[in-house]
Amino acid sequence: MSYHGVPKRLSYGGEKPFFAEKDEALAVNQPHIAPWWFPVNDHPRDKATYDVTVAVPRGNQVIGNGTLVSRRTTGARTSYHWRMRQPMSSYLAFFAAGRYRVESGVSHGLPWTVAVSKWFGPTAQAQQLRLMKASPGIVRWLSTQFGRYPFDSTGGVVTSLDTGFALENQSRPTYPFLGNGHEAHTTVVHELAHQWFGDDVSVRRWSDIWLNEGFATWAEWRYDETHGRTGAAARLRQQYSSHPASDPFWRLRIAEPGHKRLFDVPVYDRGAMTLQALRNRIGTTDLLRVLRAWAAQHSYSTGTVEEFEALAARVSGQDLDGFFDAWVRTGRRPAPTAANGLA
Ligand SMILES: [Zn+2]
Repeated sequence: MSYHGVPKRLSYGGEKPFFAEKDEALAVNQPHIAPWWFPVNDHPRDKATYDVTVAVPRGNQVIGNGTLVSRRTTGARTSYHWRMRQPMSSYLAFFAAGRYRVESGVSHGLPWTVAVSKWFGPTAQAQQLRLMKASPGIVRWLSTQFGRYPFDSTGGVVTSLDTGFALENQSRPTYPFLGNGHEAHTTVVHELAHQWFGDDVSVRRWSDIWLNEGFATWAEWRYDETHGRTGAAARLRQQYSSHPASDPFWRLRIAEPGHKRLFDVPVYDRGAMTLQALRNRIGTTDLLRVLRAWAAQHSYSTGTVEEFEALAARVSGQDLDGFFDAWVRTGRRPAPTAANGLA
């Protein structure tokens, strides 16, 4: 099949998701990006393995998902061939091309590749490289919480392009410049948590998005509480009291946010609060059992909000219908009751 064009010039529904400036190009976005660079049935439930070959002017690097199979220079061009062996949703396929500093290694048996744009000065480059190299250790911690890491490599890419967001590209998230503080580290935890929740277990429909964003945000809370910072129970209380009942925050029913509000703040924060309230309700052991079973039973596949609710009820042996109605289906603040995990 022949497929050609200049992706940066193409728009659809007012969106131009393909990034290309200076000498860098980046195919990273959500939910729309895949058709900007390959022909595909662009739905998260139509997963496939991927072989991607990208040719660039000699002296440039290409980073993609999974494992580098080969790199060949012929004349003025170098071709990079990347392979993702595990099933992947189309929007999680990516490549970054340009002048990158690339490092690879193996940590506790898991191969990793990290890359940082050379557009940054030497100090920033070294700092971002250090942050990216924390990825294998974070993946290891996440696997103690959520079970086996589902892919055969990890890492991360820091682009100089002004994306304004990070994205959980399968096996190798992409980040804009992150700086050096706790928030930078938290962003890496978030995107790597998506490897379980979003990438391995993907949404069956985009309206299931809180299963991605709420879970990755709760993983940040869990990471903090197990690394000497604020506990997740306190985070829930803080968030709950910082949004009074009159706050429009509570109007978004996160189980059905609607296509215009897929990535609104409540999908993340009310989503994480829901998991923490569920933890208060069923206990830490059962919550982690639910999350591990969720990842294991839906691995390389998809899941729905309804399936998650049924699993939580099954594992805990509790009737959680009222709980989930209050947290994800009602456009109001859940009452601060024991049934809602708040007393
Ligand atoms: Zn996210």
